[in-house]
Amino acid sequence: MHGPSPASPGRSARVQRARVLSFFFFGGSAIGLLAVAVLPLPAGTNTAGTLVTLGLSLALGTVLLIRPHRIPDWALNLALAAGTAVISFDVYFAGDVQTNIEMFYLWVAFYAFYFLSLRLALVQLGVLAAGYGVALVARGEADAVTRWTITIGTLALAGILIARLVGQIQAWATHSAQREEQLRQAEERFRSAFDDAAIGMALTDLDGRWMRVNRALADLMGYPAQDLVGKASVEFTHAEDLEADLEAHKKLVTGALSQYQTETRYVHADGHTVWIGLSASLVRDRKGQPVHLIAQMQDISERKAAEQELTARALQDPLTSLPNRLLFIDRAQVALARMERPHSSLAVFFLDVDRFKLVNDSLGHAAGDRLLVEVAERLRTLLRPSDTVSRFGGDEFTILCEGTDEEAASGVAARIAERLSEPFDLDEREVFLNASIGIVVSRNPDDDPEDLLRDADAAMYRAKQQGRSRFALFEGAMRIRSAERLTLENDLRRALEKGELRLDYQPEIELDSGRIYAVEALVRWDHPRHGTMPPNSFIPIAEDSGLIIPLGDWVLREACRQAAAWLADRDGEPSLRLSVNVSPRQLADDRLTEVVREALDRSSIPPSMLRLEITESAAVDGISTLTQLKELGVGLAIDDFGVGFSSLNHIRRLPPVDTLKIDKSFVDHLGRRPSDTAVVAAIVGMARSLSIATVAEGIETAEQVRKLRELGCDRGQGYHFARPAPASAVSQLLLSASLGELISG
Ligand code: C2E
Ligand code: MG
Ligand code: MG
Repeated sequence: MHGPSPASPGRSARVQRARVLSFFFFGGSAIGLLAVAVLPLPAGTNTAGTLVTLGLSLALGTVLLIRPHRIPDWALNLALAAGTAVISFDVYFAGDVQTNIEMFYLWVAFYAFYFLSLRLALVQLGVLAAGYGVALVARGEADAVTRWTITIGTLALAGILIARLVGQIQAWATHSAQREEQLRQAEERFRSAFDDAAIGMALTDLDGRWMRVNRALADLMGYPAQDLVGKASVEFTHAEDLEADLEAHKKLVTGALSQYQTETRYVHADGHTVWIGLSASLVRDRKGQPVHLIAQMQDISERKAAEQELTARALQDPLTSLPNRLLFIDRAQVALARMERPHSSLAVFFLDVDRFKLVNDSLGHAAGDRLLVEVAERLRTLLRPSDTVSRFGGDEFTILCEGTDEEAASGVAARIAERLSEPFDLDEREVFLNASIGIVVSRNPDDDPEDLLRDADAAMYRAKQQGRSRFALFEGAMRIRSAERLTLENDLRRALEKGELRLDYQPEIELDSGRIYAVEALVRWDHPRHGTMPPNSFIPIAEDSGLIIPLGDWVLREACRQAAAWLADRDGEPSLRLSVNVSPRQLADDRLTEVVREALDRSSIPPSMLRLEITESAAVDGISTLTQLKELGVGLAIDDFGVGFSSLNHIRRLPPVDTLKIDKSFVDHLGRRPSDTAVVAAIVGMARSLSIATVAEGIETAEQVRKLRELGCDRGQGYHFARPAPASAVSQLLLSASLGELISG
């Protein structure tokens, strides 16, 4: 009839029975005693018997009432028997009172149906009813049998009903008690699971305020738990994650999401950032209305740090700690996407450290590495924090400057070049570097970073072609595919063997007399497919591939041979000079002095007739070779002076240079651009003070000649006088000996 409690099966059922019995014994006898005290007993009642019966019932009821747990089964059964006995006694003592018999029968019906199984109860009631029936017949009251049968049936029914009712009430009471207990246990389990959880937990109201937080969360945040309660979680959210967190919260509360997981950042009490693995879900009431949120928060800072370290490694150059190619491209992508305003632009620089290989080969890799680190450092400190400097690989660096147009980019390139031209201190040696820089400016958010890099690289290649340590802005025509370059390199290798190279010569004129002072040998390549190629299109390839060494040897020998022929034409009068260009790589080669000596010996021209042209940056690195060459008796000229971030100061440190060739770019705007005029004037003045002759390159107009003469420049070279031409054509010019008519003007 009642479900035994899971804790002690049978026990609580017994307790229930004891309680029910106690109610009857205690309650019944207490009312009885009260009645005896107040009302006169009916006539014929045995007073003493009644009192004893009621007293015994009261005692028994009291015991059952206060110690229901202690009652063993047998005692309970005994109590039942006693109950029966009491009522039987009552029947006896009360004499002929009819109600007592009915009371007795009601009692038996109740207890039988309450305590016994249905079958046993029916048997018991049946036996009892039959017994009374028999007794009535035996007493000769057979006529009362029908009345008794009806009474007994009614009483039995009432007993059953009462038993059922009591059972029902009890079951209901037990059930609600159990429910209450289950709730209490669930609550307790939740409380301990919440409070003692190893990870942070919070109950949050729908506005995002923490209603309850556990110890782990308090520890994680560095605040006492009570300081967190009532605060909104967003008060602790990292500014960068705020928007996403609010968005997710909104989705949860509106039911768009039933739960979500995310990684977010909170700010710890002491100010540092804590990475949190957050999992939040919405709790609804029975009607489905959202009531609050429950969130689990785990400190994932360590994992995040490890992840970030790995990412950094994947995106960083280990030597210089600069971003690597991958990160650069990513940043460029972001920068392009950001560039929505019209007129905004960004610049990508491709920087190649000139002659880095030389340092690496001569001073060792460790020194080379230190040099790269130092270069990286200089670039980093020079540029704005918002610019991205990355190491692209080897001696190549790339730079991304947002909001930078061509003019600004040129300024940046000049600053970089200036900074890199300052000497580097390596193992107590001063090393001079220069950089060739290619620049591309983008104004189109749809540009592809890879394309921009390729264009910047092409521009850098052009800068190198133009003589290194310069910068060049990208122009569409510069797209030289690397495959093309490779083919060209192979072709060049063969060109040397097949004799596809030849020399043109260009005169150098004395500006006061118009006399031809020298001729400069300029190499040409008659390419079988591309036709005649200018040196700028293959000298850089020869440099990079090392082919410049055999090529340079050939130029020297061939030029000296030609010079010997002209010398013979002039009856050995060596007033003519021969100028030969020498590339940085040749200058760095130990054998150069030997090659020059051999060329001189072979051709038997006097060493003073030969002049070598080198660029300023190459000269700075090749001082010892230059000294040897000087000792041989050959002349030295600095070519293209004024570009490549020249410094007049460098010239002072070089072994006696006899000639400075002022770059064409200054000559171009002479007389028209005051700053250029001023530079040329300064170069000429300084060279004169050092007893160095000056030669202006690329003279194209009479006006330029006039200006140069005015400034005191010694000699000039350019299309105005003569274009480079094959030896035979120059021989004709040499015979006329003077180009005097071209200098007046
Ligand atoms: P560079 O030594 O400065 O030679 C002068 C260049 O300016 C030559 O170009 C010449 O043709 C050009 N030029 C001369 N006057 C004028 C003018 O009035 N207007 C214009 N627009 N250009 C003029 P080229 O022959 O194309 O040579 C380019 C560079 O290639 C040379 O510059 C030199 O650095 C290098 N080069 C030439 N031959 C050799 C060589 O045999 N060995 C090495 N290592 N480099 C060479
Ligand atoms: Mg030259
Ligand atoms: Mg030049």
